[in-house]
Amino acid sequence: MTKLADWFETSNDATKVLLRLGARPDVISLAGGLPAPELFPGDAVADAFAHVARDQAAVSLQYGPAEGIEPLREMIAEQMRAEGATSVTAENVIITTGSQQGLALIGQTLLNKDDRVALDEPTFLGALDAWRPCEPGYTAIDWSGNAPGFKPSDDTGAMPKFAYCLPNFRNPTGETMALEQRRALVAAAQRDDVVVIEDNPYGALRYEGVQPASLLSLADNGGEGPYDGHVIYTGTVSKTLAPALRVGWMVVPQRLVDGIIISKQGLDLCTSPLTQYAALRLIETGVEAETATRARDLYRGRRDAMLAALEKDMPAGVTWTRPEGGMFVWLTLPEGAESRDIFDRAAAAGVAIVPGDVFYAMSPSRNTIRLNFTNVPEPVIAEAVSRLAGVIADRARDAA
Ligand code: PMP
Repeated sequence: MTKLADWFETSNDATKVLLRLGARPDVISLAGGLPAPELFPGDAVADAFAHVARDQAAVSLQYGPAEGIEPLREMIAEQMRAEGATSVTAENVIITTGSQQGLALIGQTLLNKDDRVALDEPTFLGALDAWRPCEPGYTAIDWSGNAPGFKPSDDTGAMPKFAYCLPNFRNPTGETMALEQRRALVAAAQRDDVVVIEDNPYGALRYEGVQPASLLSLADNGGEGPYDGHVIYTGTVSKTLAPALRVGWMVVPQRLVDGIIISKQGLDLCTSPLTQYAALRLIETGVEAETATRARDLYRGRRDAMLAALEKDMPAGVTWTRPEGGMFVWLTLPEGAESRDIFDRAAAAGVAIVPGDVFYAMSPSRNTIRLNFTNVPEPVIAEAVSRLAGVIADRARDAA
C-alpha cells in the first residue's frame, strides 16, 4: 500500500502541465477525455431548458429533493431494469451532480481514514481525487488463482471497505471485463461482504462486440424490489448528451440509500432541478439516444484511425490496447522507457499525451501512456500519432 501523497504530487503536477499545454493552439491534444463538441445538441438543449423553465417553473426553478426528481429516478430505474437489474426501483436511484459526485458521496459515506479500497490499477484518476480527503489506503483486487478475492488488512484483518471497477472500456486502458470475471467478482463481493462500485460512464459508447451483463444485473437476485445487492452502480449523461449538464445517477443498495442521501444533502442540497428536468426531457424526446448513436458512429471512425496510425507508425516493441468502445487507447513502451520523458519531447513536437503513471494508486508503471481518440478529427489523429511515434523512435535511438 502506498501513501496518497506519493501519487498526489505527481498527478497534480501532470494536470497543471496538461492544462497549460492544452491552451497552446499549436498543440494537438490526445491528453483529455472530452467528447467531440460537434456532437453537442445545442438547439435541442436550448429548447429543453426554455421549455422546462417556462412551463415547469414551479418545480424546475425550486429546490428539489436531495435524491433527485421523481420522474427522472423512475426513468433511470426502468432503464436499469431493462438492462437486467430487475429489482431496481426508483427508491434505489439517486441523481447526482455528475457521476463524479456519486464517487465522492460513496467515499464520504463509507470511508474512514486508513480504510482500504480495492481496485485494479491503472484506474480513473478522478476516483482517487474524490477519495483523497478520506485518506484511504489502496489494495489490488486479487485475480490470481481460480477466484478473485479481497485481501484482509495485514494490520487489522479488516476487508476493504469497497472495491472500485470500470467493467466497460476502463479509463485509462480501454479494456473491458469479460463476463466470467464479472461473475467471479460479484461472487467474491457476496462471499466477503464487500460492496463493489461499478462505474459505467462509457457503456453506451460500444463500437463493436456484445455487451457483457453488468455487475449490477449479476448482483441483483431478481426478487421483489427495492434492490439490496452488493453492487453500487454509477452512470451519467456526460458522454451521451453533454458533460455540462452535470447530471449523473447512482443505483444504491437499499441499506445504503439513507446514508448517501444524507451525505448528498450536506454537500449541495440537491442537483439543480432545472438541469434534471431538462435532462429528463432530452431523454424522453429521444435526443439522448440520437446523440449517443452519432457519438458511436463518429468515435468508431476515430478509434479505427488511431489504431491504424499506431499500426503504421509505432516502432517495434511498443504495444497497445484495442478497445471495443470508450475513449482511450493505452500504450506500453519497451521496459525502461520513461513516459515522462516522452511527454516532454512530445510536447515539444506539438502533441499532448498523459504519462500513464498518474493513473496508479500503488505501483506506477513508468513506461505507459494514455491516448484519447474522441476529441480530434481522424486526419489530425493520424498526424499526432505520427509525431508521437517519431518521438518514441528518436528516444529509443538516443538511449541505445
Ligand atoms: N468515471 C469515469 C471513469 C470517468 O472517466 C469520468 C469522467 N470522464 C467520470 C466518472 C465522471 O463523469 P461525470 O461526472 O461527468 O459524470
